[in-house]
Parts: sequence; C-alpha cells; structure tokens
Amino acid sequence: MSIKKYLFCLIFSCTIFFFVQPNETGYAKEKEMDDLYEQRMSLYKKTETLTQLPWYYIAAIDQYERQIHKNLPDDQLVSIRIQPEVWYGIGNYPLIKDEQIITLFDGKGKDGNGDGKADPENPEDILYTMAQILLESGPTEDDIKIGLWNYYQRELTVHTIKNTAKVFKKFKHIYLTDRDFPVSLQHNFSYRSTFGDPRGFGGLRIHEGTDIFANYGTPVKSTTYGVVEMLGWNLYGGWRIGVRDIYNIYHYYAHLNGYDDEVKVGMIVKPGDVLGSVGSSGYGPPGTSGKFPPHLHYGMYKDNGEKEWSFDPYPYLRKWERMAKDK
Ligand SMILES: [Zn+2]
Repeated sequence: MSIKKYLFCLIFSCTIFFFVQPNETGYAKEKEMDDLYEQRMSLYKKTETLTQLPWYYIAAIDQYERQIHKNLPDDQLVSIRIQPEVWYGIGNYPLIKDEQIITLFDGKGKDGNGDGKADPENPEDILYTMAQILLESGPTEDDIKIGLWNYYQRELTVHTIKNTAKVFKKFKHIYLTDRDFPVSLQHNFSYRSTFGDPRGFGGLRIHEGTDIFANYGTPVKSTTYGVVEMLGWNLYGGWRIGVRDIYNIYHYYAHLNGYDDEVKVGMIVKPGDVLGSVGSSGYGPPGTSGKFPPHLHYGMYKDNGEKEWSFDPYPYLRKWERMAKDK
C-alpha cells in the first residue's frame, strides 16, 4: 500500500471512529439509563404491593435523597440512607440484622426481600423500611405528610417530596427528561451570560440568573416538570413565578407582564406549559413597570436539604434552546 493510500485509510478510519463512537456510546448510555429507571420503578411498585403506600411517594423520597447526598454513583439503584441508629436501634452495637432483635432495640430496619435479614444496604429492605416508617402515622395523604415531617423535620423537604410525588403520579413515570426553552422560539430574543454581574437596585447585589431580552407579551414557558411554588409580586422580581422541579431545583421567572389564567400555586407543570409573558415589572411597589427594557429574568436555585444557593442557568439555557430547536 502506498503512503498516500495508507494515510487516506488512516484518516478515513479515524473519521469513522470519531463520528460513530459518540452516537453508539450515547445510545448505550441511554439504554443503560432506561434500564436503571425501569429497575427503580419495579422496586417502587413492589414496595407499594407489599405496604399499600403509593409508589410515587416512595419514588419521590428516593429522588429527593439522590439530590442531597454527595458523590453518589450515577447508576446507584436506590439512594435513601437510613441512619444506623434508626435502622438498628440504639444499643444494637453488634449491628445484628435479625428483624426481631432490631425491633427489640427499637430499630426501624425491616426485611423487605424475605431473606431473613434487615439489611440497610439492600434496596428492597431500604424501600420497605422507609414505607413502614412513613405509614407509622397512617395511610391517608395528610398522615403521610405528618410521617414525612416526623422523619425529615424540615418544611421545604416535606413540600418538595410531596410535590415530586404529585408530578410522578400525574405523568405515571420517574424518567422525565424532556426540557424546553423558557421563551417562545417563534419570537425574537437574545441573551448572554451575566451571572454574577453587579446589580445596583436595592443595594449591592450580584446578578443571580440570566436575562433573556424579548418583546412585551412574548410567551414564557416552563422549562421542566415541576410544581408552581410561588406566584405574586416581589420588590425586585415584579410579577414572578417559582417552579420547583423533581431535582429539587427552584426555577425563578421574573419581571413578567402577567400570568396565564390557569396558573396557580400547587399546579403541576411540564416543559412547554405557558406560565405568563415577558414584561418589565419590578423594582418598586406592586404594579411598577418600565424601569428597564422588557426581559425574562431566569434564575435557578439548588437546595441540598440544608440550604439553598443560586447557580448559573446560562449553560442549561443554551442546551434547552438546542433541544427545543431539534424538536
Ligand atoms: Zn436579571
């Protein structure tokens, strides 16, 4: 083979490698994730059959805990962690996994898979135990709320789990990966990365979000699956809406011209649902408008079960814009 031919073959096979490789691994990864979600779903349903606690509560607790623990492997099946003293009971120092002995020490650990051991590392045992802990306060929706409160002792956590459960129940699934861009692509808009820039109004603040400039009345849409948590006037944000998604991320839409008639607190939304329209409200008492050009201020806040902080939405907006264009 001549050098030229050899080089051509080399370049050709490299090109094939680079073009084919990402698609194939992407597909394999997607398939893996599908399988993982299917496995999780079947465990939640199995727990429901055993305990009568609806699967979407169990799924929502697992989903919540997956967001609050650090450095979890992507493919971890179940992420709920029950503290050893709660699982084994105080005084059960040898950490005996026999259910009767655990009960003797007032531990909560239960055997969910019938292997004779209550193992805090076993997904079925964990889910079964968690369901039993929740059901201690009773089976109705209000009882479950009390059960969540008794276990987590934090209002935002109870709220988030309840709302995630509502989303799972409505869409009948946990693998909800669709996203949308918050401003209608049929209208003119522009945005750039300004997270962290200084802002003058209301003292020295930094800019916690991305401004998407568009004309008055341009539809503003939900980017994710979630539940409307906040609605109304706020000094800086004007007419604003807050949606918390199933990853415990709070999406903040500010300076709206108005809301869609349907939108209210507690409403379940999906990507693309219209929330309101672009305006220039804010920076004053209710009704103040026109102090700056019309735009949507879009902010994202993450909660880790202890505190909440803002992070830069810009890279996500770019990604969702591409996703929305590809639809
Ligand atoms: Zn802004």
